[in-house]
Amino acid sequence: MSTDCLFCGIVARTVPATVVHETDTVLAFRDIDPQAPSHLLVIPKEHYPDAAAMATADPRLAGDVLAAAGKAAKADGIDATGYRLVFNTGTDANQTVFHAHCHVLGGRRMSWPPG
Ligand code: 5GP
Ligand code: ZN
Repeated sequence: MSTDCLFCGIVARTVPATVVHETDTVLAFRDIDPQAPSHLLVIPKEHYPDAAAMATADPRLAGDVLAAAGKAAKADGIDATGYRLVFNTGTDANQTVFHAHCHVLGGRRMSWPPG
């Protein structure tokens, strides 16, 4: 845990969040500034700065995040219509929170390529 990390605060329940799915290793909650009708974030409970660092250190945990993304999408009713999983990584991708997280976006038709 990193004491100055926002998402570690959500894991520790010192920062409030609307949790939609949880396991021993991961947490899924609603994004505070949704970019789609359903916009969830899935994070490992352990702190890693980005998805690549997580997957390198603990591939099984990366699998847990992906499995939880599917379960959270189903719980939010977007599994039938489809959804997008995004791991923003670094400056050009506009990563703003440096605790690995998977965006789960759905509930509307999305364009490709992303802007
Ligand atoms: P990034 O830009 O790093 O890929 O995504 C960070 C996400 O975290 C953004 O979509 C932003 O809206 C979300 N976010 C930032 N602060 C909070 C917060 O305090 N609570 C929740 N639930 N989401 C947050
Ligand atoms: Zn963290």
